[in-house]
Amino acid sequence: MPSNAWEIGALYPPDGLNGIAWSQPAGVGGQVFPGPVTSVSYFETTPFSERSGVFAPFCGHSVNAPLIQKEWDYTTNSSVALVCCPECGAVCYTIEPFEDALSTVMQPQLPL
Ligand SMILES: [Zn+2]
Repeated sequence: MPSNAWEIGALYPPDGLNGIAWSQPAGVGGQVFPGPVTSVSYFETTPFSERSGVFAPFCGHSVNAPLIQKEWDYTTNSSVALVCCPECGAVCYTIEPFEDALSTVMQPQLPL
């Protein structure tokens, strides 16, 4: 039986998203680098508050919405929705079956 290609706390896909060389020095579940831009440049015209997201997942990024990726869970033999950070792809938690993640009855809101 094949094993799952994903893991809660790890990046998915394993190299992460957006073509950035992500690293997770503390291992699965640890903070992901590079982190969010937190300092304000002297020449920066965007207020820090406008660069802050609604959610702060464990990876350390600041985002406004989760990224849902579809995968298969071989341990439960079910489709699974990976609720991920949209910047690095860190899997925060899962919802099974996948369709429940899209249902406004099962998931009226989808926090990160
Ligand atoms: Zn992230």
